[in-house]
Amino acid sequence: MKKICLLGATGSIGTSTLDVIKNNSDKFQLVAMSFGKNIEKAQKIIEDFSPKYVSVQTEELAETLKNKYPQIDVFYGNEGLNQLVQTDYNLLLNAVMGSVGLIPTMTAIELGRDIAIANKETLVVAGDFIMPAAKKAGVNLLPVDSEHSAIFQVLQGVKETDLRDITITASGGSFRDKKRSELVGVSVGDALNHPNWSMGAKITIDSATMVNKGLEVIEAHHLFQVDYDDINVIMHRESVVHSLITLKDGAMYAELGASDMRQPIQFALTYPDHIPLVNEKEFSLAKLATIHFEEVNYERFPMLALAFKVGRLGGSFPAVFNAANEVAVAAFLQEKIEFLDIEKIIEKAVGNHVEVNDLSLEKLIFIDSETRNKVENWISDKNF
Ligand code: NDP
Ligand code: MG
Repeated sequence: MKKICLLGATGSIGTSTLDVIKNNSDKFQLVAMSFGKNIEKAQKIIEDFSPKYVSVQTEELAETLKNKYPQIDVFYGNEGLNQLVQTDYNLLLNAVMGSVGLIPTMTAIELGRDIAIANKETLVVAGDFIMPAAKKAGVNLLPVDSEHSAIFQVLQGVKETDLRDITITASGGSFRDKKRSELVGVSVGDALNHPNWSMGAKITIDSATMVNKGLEVIEAHHLFQVDYDDINVIMHRESVVHSLITLKDGAMYAELGASDMRQPIQFALTYPDHIPLVNEKEFSLAKLATIHFEEVNYERFPMLALAFKVGRLGGSFPAVFNAANEVAVAAFLQEKIEFLDIEKIIEKAVGNHVEVNDLSLEKLIFIDSETRNKVENWISDKNF
């Protein structure tokens, strides 16, 4: 029985993970979980899965849970997340949203726990610290993001020296068929309407700006230790090919399938085994008939170009890119700024940033919070 600690249990990845756990209750047990504020959903999960440890975002919600479930150890706040990952479990599935996932990930690594990582922001901000720490501690960092899981799956059995490059596919998100001039004044509702995947709000907006693909490029650089010159992005509107690799002799290996996050989640939980997926979605190549590939238009999607740039600059630049995006997307979701302002804000934050010397994890965490404060001020002053 593998004991699972799940960060972000009430979210989109959290929900799919719970489905996998429930469908394989002979293999997995949910012992620890965190959520933010969605107490109704969290209570349903607590009643279905009986975890021993729970962490929640606020002290008030923690009190409510303690009164209702005295048998559970309840933690709260960012410190609560960090306490939760120090409990007794075998595998951490980190599906919290945003760079708040960074410290608990580092703690779990230091404790030698294997980690299935959906929380890409953590790798983007601190991949230079996370990857060596994971290597040193001998822990597995198993990708959950569908593109990275695809690459990880096809890399099984491939010699590192045989790999030429990797190619990440991009659906283009909810506005892929709009010109830039048509993006003026688009609504939150339209932006949340992703053509292929059902996901949390933040990542759905990130898909529309293609910041998500940019974060994925940086995530891939760290997870697979591949140079930015050896990472390609290709538009592929059907999201059938989840990503691919090219070997030195030109042979390409791809992973294909339905758009169902339960497949990469389950593989991260059962790695290195593939087991049947309960209620597998119907998927037929013959019914698909045609799939499309196209070059990325970097003028249409400037955030992807900027992500390659900040990735190559390295240091704290990816952290600034990420923090500015997190705050800008939250403001867009609250209708405080326009869709195109997200790009403006990220460009300004990255453009103003001056690299610091002797970067450490502590300095990165400071830069992350400093960037958030700056961007919040720009938004309240309408100055970006
Ligand atoms: P959701 O917004 O659906 O869920 C986020 C989860 O994190 C919720 O449980 C939420 O709690 C919790 N949470 C948010 N902020 C905080 C906080 N400050 N402190 C504690 N908990 C918090 O996101 P997704 O499931 O879509 O995404 C999660 C991660 O997985 C992201 O990093 C995303 O990039 C990545 N990912 C997601 C994919 C998808 O298909 N959804 C695909 C690939 C990667 P609550 O709702 O209770 O407030
Ligand atoms: Mg993805």
